[in-house]
Amino acid sequence: MLYPSVLEISKKAIDNNINHWRSKLKPKTILIAIIKAFAYGSDSLLIAKQIEAKVDKYAVAYCDEGLTLREGNIKKNILVLHPQTNSFPQIIENNLEPCLYSIYSLKHFIYICKKHKTENYPIHININTGLNRLGFNLNQTNELIELIRDNKYIKVVSIFSHLIASEDSLTNNITNSQISSFNSIADKVEKGLDYKIIRHIANTSGILNHKNAEMDMVRIGIGLLGFDNYKNEGLENVCSLKTQISHIHTIKKGESVSYNGEFVAEEDTTIATLSIGHADGISRSLGNENFWFSINNQKANIIGNVCMDMTMVNITGIDCKIGDEAVFFGTQDDILTISRKIGTISYEVLTMTSQRVKRIIV
Ligand SMILES: *Cc1c(COP(=O)(O)O)cnc(C)c1O
Repeated sequence: MLYPSVLEISKKAIDNNINHWRSKLKPKTILIAIIKAFAYGSDSLLIAKQIEAKVDKYAVAYCDEGLTLREGNIKKNILVLHPQTNSFPQIIENNLEPCLYSIYSLKHFIYICKKHKTENYPIHININTGLNRLGFNLNQTNELIELIRDNKYIKVVSIFSHLIASEDSLTNNITNSQISSFNSIADKVEKGLDYKIIRHIANTSGILNHKNAEMDMVRIGIGLLGFDNYKNEGLENVCSLKTQISHIHTIKKGESVSYNGEFVAEEDTTIATLSIGHADGISRSLGNENFWFSINNQKANIIGNVCMDMTMVNITGIDCKIGDEAVFFGTQDDILTISRKIGTISYEVLTMTSQRVKRIIV
């Protein structure tokens, strides 16, 4: 095999997950697949193609990510959640739909639309209901309406907000107050513009935890990859990160392994060198027996420090040979365990696999 390390993307798991989410939604609910950041570290085009028949729209974070999909011949609507003003011309030329999040971004987009002589160009309006990341503030609603009303260049397709703590059912009151302030702004904008506008606020765990968050449309990201920030019931893990054993040898009691000699063998030890390292997404903080690779279904602890391109594991007592597969993660549990050990969340672990690792769909 030319590529010693691969990120396997399971078709069966993706199909299962998209069906799972569809079954949780009302038939009329519009489903946006959020495939930003290489579809959470996997491959945005592979995922987009696999779910094409079952989703209504796509969303990415930045313009470039939308271009990748257009170049891959994706024809459906693509929202750009966080477009930069300098990408507005390309957004229009490639028929991407910007989510505008401030008076500044709206005015600038209208200015570019004038230059391109657009008519009713589809835009989406982001309302800040407390996350304080992006979005129009409550006191800007009138100005927002003034700028859009009677403007022939643009047309508002949807209005949305983002939840602060959708995964946490203890914060129901925060979510409910976000939903009610969002709805009252959306009412006002709809009335001011005098046409029907699609509403959405739910991400993956918003769907699971807050029935009143479903609205007209939902935005599913991590749910496609097999996580719901709860028990992942009915979901399957999509991505597995695997590599190979490239070298095996035995070291004597007292010898050290890897940079800085932090692992010292207490007895004669058989070690395998794996063809993957921190440049591929194996966090260096998992070294020195903080995590393991699965080799022929047995745990081989990482010994010593993880190197840039290689990692050494202890295979004493494990039946294996050069060329055998070593799995870093292959289940939701693996990914959650890694997250805990390095002090982060599944979202970050999923996006850690570097682009050196070949993506393959199986
Ligand atoms: C990333 C993102 C999502 C997807 O969230 P998940 O928790 O992964 O489902 C939805 N909406 C916005 C605005 C986002 O930035």
